[in-house]
Amino acid sequence: MAAIHLARSELMSIALPVIKPSDAKAWADCKRRVWLDNKAKLTIFPSQDQFEQLIIDLGLEHENTVLDALSAKTTVKTASSAGDTQRLMAEKVPVIYQAELVDESRQITGKPDFLILHESGHYQAADAKLSLNDKKKEIQIQLGVYRELLANPLPAIVFLGNGEQALIGDESQSIATKFLTQMRVLLNEASEPAVRYSHSTCKICPYNSHCKPTFEAHDELSMLYGLPLHKRV
Ligand code: SF4
Repeated sequence: MAAIHLARSELMSIALPVIKPSDAKAWADCKRRVWLDNKAKLTIFPSQDQFEQLIIDLGLEHENTVLDALSAKTTVKTASSAGDTQRLMAEKVPVIYQAELVDESRQITGKPDFLILHESGHYQAADAKLSLNDKKKEIQIQLGVYRELLANPLPAIVFLGNGEQALIGDESQSIATKFLTQMRVLLNEASEPAVRYSHSTCKICPYNSHCKPTFEAHDELSMLYGLPLHKRV
């Protein structure tokens, strides 16, 4: 019988589905949304919402401002892949931009905006966030998972939208663990999870046209404004 040789990327693709900490907001908003993001083959049209686009643009601008500030102080190199990130970390480059951290055994891939070399010789993960609140669930999860991937005791850094910095340490561990545990179960599910309609969340979701007909078919009272949570469909 002929031997079958699979490339490493092919082996990863037939292993567990990859968990991405960048899915933390979708996971916190709606379990179906994060399942659809990862498992469905739906055609999603880019948002035409001007406010949403403004937030994206401001987020990129903020990230570039942080990048410029770090570049003015020290050497910054951009990573092109997970392997390149490992190489730059081994070289002890002071700041690695667009890093990629991978835990192959648990199939987790995290992409912190920055890895910053600490005087201890370890790296700290750092993200630029427009938010002024580092206690937001998705920020705690994302930075908490980066800390797990780096496996050192240093806190992660958030460059907040008001120019201040916040540190995220062990307090993020329980929510990050809950995210990883629930995502593993969710991504193993073959069909989209039953959820409740939430007007405030669903009206701005790109999957609205996919979900709304089913909610309407079930005659959900929650389609009315002001009634956020209703029966599962
Ligand atoms: S439309 Fe609503 S229920 Fe459907 S994925 Fe989006 S947030 Fe979830």
